[in-house]
Amino acid sequence: MAEFDYDLLVVGAGSGGMRAARVAASHGARVALAEEYQVGGTCVIRGCVPKKMLLYGSQFAQQLGQAARFGWRLDQPSFDWLSLRDTVQAEVQRLRGLYESTLHGHGIALFPERAVLEGEQGVRLASGRELRARVILLANGARPHVPDIQGSEHGLTSNEMFHLPQVPERLVVVGAGYIANEFAGIFHRLGSRVTLLNRSGTMLRDYDHALSERLLQLSQAQGIGYHANAALQRIERHADELLVRVAGLAPVPADVVLFATGRRPNTEGLGLERAGVRCGADGAILVDAESRTSAPGVYAVGDVTGRIQLTPVAIREGQAFAERVFGGADVLADEMLVPAAVFSDPPLAMVGLTEREARRRHGKVHVYQADFRPMRNAMAGSGERALYKMVVHAETDVVLGLHMIGPDAPEILQAAAVAVRAGLTRRAFDDTVALHPTMAEELVLMKKMPEPAQIPEPTDMESMKCDT
Ligand code: NDP
Repeated sequence: MAEFDYDLLVVGAGSGGMRAARVAASHGARVALAEEYQVGGTCVIRGCVPKKMLLYGSQFAQQLGQAARFGWRLDQPSFDWLSLRDTVQAEVQRLRGLYESTLHGHGIALFPERAVLEGEQGVRLASGRELRARVILLANGARPHVPDIQGSEHGLTSNEMFHLPQVPERLVVVGAGYIANEFAGIFHRLGSRVTLLNRSGTMLRDYDHALSERLLQLSQAQGIGYHANAALQRIERHADELLVRVAGLAPVPADVVLFATGRRPNTEGLGLERAGVRCGADGAILVDAESRTSAPGVYAVGDVTGRIQLTPVAIREGQAFAERVFGGADVLADEMLVPAAVFSDPPLAMVGLTEREARRRHGKVHVYQADFRPMRNAMAGSGERALYKMVVHAETDVVLGLHMIGPDAPEILQAAAVAVRAGLTRRAFDDTVALHPTMAEELVLMKKMPEPAQIPEPTDMESMKCDT
C-alpha cells in the first residue's frame, strides 16, 4: 500500500491552486484538491471576473447617455439590476463548471470541503476523512478585512456586492484602494449616490500620485463624494437607513455600506502550528523564493502568502512551484515589473516605478507626459482628460515606469508593458510610428516635463474634499 494517498494535495481551488494542480498532474503526479467554497476562487467567483462583468454592464449607462451626440435616438432606456446580476452569476457558474471539467480532465480528485493541516504531510477534511500527501500546497487565498468598529456588522464586503437585491440609492464606501474605486465607479454609473470615505489623504497609495489625483478629480466631477482623513467611528442602523458616523462630519446616510479596507490571508484555524508553518506579523504564511514554508514538504502560493495580491502573480507562483517540484525545472516565479490596473471609471494602469520611487532609487529622472482629451470624449461632450506619464532614467533613457489613466488604459498598458519589461528606452517609443487616430499613439508622442525643483511630496487630497 502506498504511504501517501496523493503526491500533491492542494488546499484552495483559486487561480494559484488550480494552476499548480493542473501542471503537477500533467507531470504525472497524483493530485487532490480541497476547496471549501466554489472551484475558481476569489478571482472567478467573487472578484476580478464578476467585477469586470458588472463594469461592462455599468458602462452602458454612460454610452446610452451620450448616444444622442452620435446620432442615436433611444427612447427612455431602462436598467434592470436583477437581469445584470443574474447574467453575471450565470456566467460565473459556467466558468466554474469549466474549471471543474479541467480538474476532471486531468484526473485531479476534488474534495469540496474545508481541509486543515494535521501535520507536514496530512490534512483532515471537514467530513473527518484524513488524507496524506507527499507535498502539500496551501493556496487558500485571503478574505476581506472589516475594521473593528461598532456597527461593522451592518456593512458588506465585496463578496456580497455581487448578490444585492437592488442597486442601493446611497452607497458609502469605506476605503480608497482598488475595490473602493472600482465599486464606486460601477455603482455610480448604475445610479447610486456614492460617497468614499478615505482614512488618509492618499488614495491608491501604490500608484503615481498624478494619476490618483486625476482619478479623484474626475470622480468628483462625475458626482462621487469623497472625504479624506475620515476617521470612521461607528455605523448605526435606523428604521430605513444606515448612518455612518465619521469624526468631524455630519452623519452620512446610506442604504449600503461597503468595506473595501484590504484583504487578510486565510490562515486562521488552518492547523499551521501543527505542521510547523510560520506566519509573519500580518498573518501571512512566510515563504522563500521557491514558495517553501518553514515546514518541509509544505508550500504556499497566492494571497495566503501576502506577496503581491494579484491573480496573474498567484498563477505564476503556482506554475513555478509545480514545474519545480514535479517537473524538475529550475524555475522561479518572476515577479519583476508586474503590471497592475484599477478598473475605476476611467481606469488606471501602471508598470514599473512611480516618479517618486524612481527619484528615490535613481536620483535624477526625466518625466514625459501626454495630457489629452480622447477624441471620443470630445465628441461625446465630456471634458474628461486622459493622462499618460513615463518615468525615464536620466542617464540611460531606459523607461523605469509607465502610468496611464484614461479609457482602455489597462488594455493599452498590457502591450506597452512588454516594452518596459524588455528594458527599452524612451527613444525606442519615440522612434515608433504613431498609429493614428488612437489613444495609444500618445505613448509615442509624449512631451518632456520641466524638472521639478524638488522631489514632489504627495499633496494632501483633502484639498479636493467635497460634501455630498
Ligand atoms: P487596498 O489595499 O487596495 O485598499 C485598502 C483601502 O482601505 C486603503 O484605502 C486603506 O487605507 C483603507 N483601509 C485599510 N484599513 C482600514 C481601516 N481599518 N479603516 C479605514 N480604512 C482602511 O485593498 P482593497 O480591499 O481595495 O483590495 C484588496 C486587494 O485586492 C488589493 O490590494 C489588490 O491587491 C487586490 N485587488 C486587485 C484588483 C485589480 O487588480 N484590479 C481589484 C480588486 C482587488 P490606507 O491607504 O490609508 O492604508
